Amino acid sequence: MNNEKPKILLVDDEKANLKVLSDLLKDEAQLYVAKSGFQALEKANKLLPDLILLDVVMPDMDGFEVIKQLKSTSATQMIPVIFVTGLTDLVFEEKGLGLGACDYILKPYHSVIVKARVKLHLQLVRQRKLLEKLALIDPLTTIANRRKYEEVLDLEWRSTVRAGSCLSIAMIDVDNFKQFNDRFGHPAGDEVLERIAKTLAQQLNRAKDFIARYGGEEFIILLPDTDSEGAKMIMNHCRVAIENMAVSHTESLHRVVTVSVGGVTVAPTKATNRAEVLLQADKMLYEAKQKGRNTVVWKQLDAKEG
Ligand code: GH3
Ligand code: MG
Ligand code: MG
Repeated sequence: MNNEKPKILLVDDEKANLKVLSDLLKDEAQLYVAKSGFQALEKANKLLPDLILLDVVMPDMDGFEVIKQLKSTSATQMIPVIFVTGLTDLVFEEKGLGLGACDYILKPYHSVIVKARVKLHLQLVRQRKLLEKLALIDPLTTIANRRKYEEVLDLEWRSTVRAGSCLSIAMIDVDNFKQFNDRFGHPAGDEVLERIAKTLAQQLNRAKDFIARYGGEEFIILLPDTDSEGAKMIMNHCRVAIENMAVSHTESLHRVVTVSVGGVTVAPTKATNRAEVLLQADKMLYEAKQKGRNTVVWKQLDAKEG
């Protein structure tokens, strides 16, 4: 929804009603119309509108049935629904709200009131989306946080299994960072973390490549559809790019801020134990530290190990 106009789906079996609502709301949103319950469900799933205005009495499938189905489908359950109906009996209003509608507008209505209510609900949607977005961003570096990482890993893992492809997972940890903070102070440390996040992100080119701040001074990179050779190369670029930032770190053997990288490439099946794969990536990071830091250690997992 960001800066573009929000999307509203108008559902009514009578053309004249759709026309009135369209004229009323055309400045507030991009409008889409559905003339039956079936069409409403189809369009709701395809368009994922920000708001739905729903008639109750329609042939074939009524509005109550439509909202039931919307609320029981994960993709559409968060979409707010306003009933706009001539059914004035309180019993119906109670039923509509009970089924999860956010509002119930009676016909004949005052156009100013409808407009105001629609605006209010669109504002609530905007606020909810903003909060959702903020909840998935790391405030210091403004890249994805661990929560977002868990979400993306889950999606990428499943799509890799389906496609019979491979997934590379890299864990990155800043070397001797405690000493950096001790020597230069926490604010300087924060600034370095910001720069590291930016520099790492710059090394990623494909749309599906993903970076998150896992915690503290640890980052994680997912490279879908990338084999171990490709992943090793990209992660080595990352390592060198951090070294080339040339941030002085007098307490470190390498004299500048560096990172260690541990990673695995896996071609998972449904039987693959994901936790075990992540543990292997962790082990590779540990090995990179053991080997003297500022290095990449990688492992291609075979099917049995994965
Ligand atoms: P190693 O090379 O083994 O990774 O050593 P290290 O000192 O980096 O590792 P350790 O886990 O002992 O310490 C991590 C340090 O990272 C602790 C803390 O000072 C620093 N750190 C973690 N999160 C932040 C942060 O948000 N900001 C700053 N400035 N420092 C952080
Ligand atoms: Mg650490
Ligand atoms: Mg560290």
